[in-house]
Amino acid sequence: MYGLNGEVDNRTNGVLIKVDGDAETVFKFRDQIIELSPAASQVKSVEVIEKKVSGFKNFRIVRSKNDVNQVTEISPDIAVCADCIDDLSYDPKRIDYPFINCTNCGPRFTIIEGLPYDRDKTSMRKFKMCSNCASEYHDVIDRRFHAQPIACNKCGPIYTYTDSEVTFSGIEEILSRISARINEGKSVAVKGMGGYFLMCNALDNNAVSELREKKHRDSKPFAVLFRDISSVREYCFTDAAEENEIMSWRRPILILKQKKNLASSVNSGLDTIGSMLPYMPLHHMLFKKLKTPVVVLTSGNFFNEPIITDDITALNHLMPVTGSILSYNRKIINRTDDSVVRIIGGNISLIRRSRGYVPTPVDLDCNVDGTIALGAEQKNSFCIGRNKQAIMSQYIGDLKTLSTYEFFKESIERFHRLFFFKPQLIACDLHPDYLSTAYAEIFEKELNVPLVKVQHHHAHIASCMAENRINEKVIGISMDGTGYGPDGHTWGSEFLIADLKGFTRYTHFDYIPMPGGDKAVDEPWRMALSYLYKYFGDNIDYEVLPAFRSVQPTQISLVREMIDKGINTPLTSGAGRLFDAASALIGLCPVSGFDSEAPMRLESAINSTTESHYPYEIGTTVIFAETFKAVIDDMRSQDVSFISAKFHNTVALAIAEVSERMRRETSINKVVLSGGVFQNKYLLEKLIRILIGKNFYIYTNQLVPANDGGVSLGQLIIASKNIGLCV
Ligand code: ZN
Ligand code: FE
Repeated sequence: MYGLNGEVDNRTNGVLIKVDGDAETVFKFRDQIIELSPAASQVKSVEVIEKKVSGFKNFRIVRSKNDVNQVTEISPDIAVCADCIDDLSYDPKRIDYPFINCTNCGPRFTIIEGLPYDRDKTSMRKFKMCSNCASEYHDVIDRRFHAQPIACNKCGPIYTYTDSEVTFSGIEEILSRISARINEGKSVAVKGMGGYFLMCNALDNNAVSELREKKHRDSKPFAVLFRDISSVREYCFTDAAEENEIMSWRRPILILKQKKNLASSVNSGLDTIGSMLPYMPLHHMLFKKLKTPVVVLTSGNFFNEPIITDDITALNHLMPVTGSILSYNRKIINRTDDSVVRIIGGNISLIRRSRGYVPTPVDLDCNVDGTIALGAEQKNSFCIGRNKQAIMSQYIGDLKTLSTYEFFKESIERFHRLFFFKPQLIACDLHPDYLSTAYAEIFEKELNVPLVKVQHHHAHIASCMAENRINEKVIGISMDGTGYGPDGHTWGSEFLIADLKGFTRYTHFDYIPMPGGDKAVDEPWRMALSYLYKYFGDNIDYEVLPAFRSVQPTQISLVREMIDKGINTPLTSGAGRLFDAASALIGLCPVSGFDSEAPMRLESAINSTTESHYPYEIGTTVIFAETFKAVIDDMRSQDVSFISAKFHNTVALAIAEVSERMRRETSINKVVLSGGVFQNKYLLEKLIRILIGKNFYIYTNQLVPANDGGVSLGQLIIASKNIGLCV
């Protein structure tokens, strides 16, 4: 464009461009780099240095130099771009070619084995470029210039379809066969970007129920893939921020409020739909043939196991579920699930950080080089430090499942290799029974480097401080499920005065017995009983309350006995348990079918704009005795929507009141909010409004999840800080 000659070199620590020209042209060129950068690129800074150059006769790309001491960023996977979708109809070499991609789109992290990012370090290695692709690949002005996964109908990967009768390739026939199956109410297993997925018509309740049954996935909502944004708008309410996110090149699953019903077993009666738009060329091509504008697209895995990436495993395990499978002959190197996002208070709130977001680093204000943080137990992710950046792993899952634990170990090894990482410091949770803690202890002995154990909720708060680059004392409020407390109890509603080094616990919600331990998480009626029994003892007619209608009277007395005698009843201050109890009490979810079902149903029930709230008491702890009493009174005359709204308002007000007390005593005005309970949109938006009204500065997680998927970032920075690495 400017007639500049020179060369560009994609180095491990960034891009170096040498150009020969006068200052004015070079600066114009620099401005254009920023202005015209593709949607998925992120130009952090452009530095211009004057140097004497000569001998450039053209503009060319020079071979990447591999400097092991410095690491460039690896791009996340990018949804197919609009130009490539056009090419499916117009580019003679790529008519209906389902692996079409260009410099602006296509797989990245999922196919990469090593750095620098060149084709021979990816699973595209085995596909030899045809002469046509090669000439585009080497042509500076071509859109596919140096697109590592470049491919066409002649030389690239292909899909193969298999069912009980036939196996064939040929995309035309494949699309006809699959769309016919889905139109008939059957399901298909489809190899996606970061793993296998299961697909069926989201408007056909028989199809969805059958898939649910065969997948043994009781009632956890399925994500769906819509044909286009107008179908999203038909079924869901959207605002500008939501549309922006669902259409972004990251193409996450976005939690949207439902407008029109899908098949009822898609979201099991919740008022939200996990919605996505097409991100692979195949999705776009398929919707041209499908009658339905929306299909279920759920991970191909079994209960708590990682999503299947391997073709043989898929054939053995998914074929029996769907009866047909669509695979392709390129290996998935890095497993990634679809990411899950919600817009809360106009900002992104990540629920699951994976495809499209990983491995984009989080930029920090301090040095964390050589630190590895192993995360929590459920929704695990780990995190490594490189200079002033934290590189979070993809969503790993619940480590208690053996195959997930294997995935955890294997990913740690892979991150070591991929990012040339040499651990100098390890961080993990304080919980003695977490598998990530056990792994950290083995790791510590093996490597003989220091290990720092970090309190769970301090880590939550620090994750939010790190991404917001706060390095001072704050009011840290962690509303969460469970986390190990140094006093031996299960913490989870923590008001901390915290900085990146340490914390003091100001107060918390009342400790409540958790009859049966983890069983009380699966059966929220136990928590309802526990709250009522603690506050009102025998002065309540338990049998008439909806929470206990389906519970045997003998079970009720058994649980009361457990509480009386302190048998297997750890004490918890978990905010998650408070929501469990409220949800069970008003009959919404006495028994939970999936993680966080009770609080999700409680939030989902709100269809009221009431500003009213229940009484509560703030003493040395926050006590909800009056709250529960008033809820029971309301249950005689009010509907669940109203009660739920009032209950949420109560919790938000209690949190805000404690914040004010803390400010009065400490003069700290910055409030940091983190922990899984803050994925409750109603609660967080309400709380933010109240706190803004009281002139607090408020910080929330946007780059990493507020749930346990973000804990490793907090561990990383706390450990680095305590060892004196990060100052
Ligand atoms: Zn493209
Ligand atoms: Fe947590």
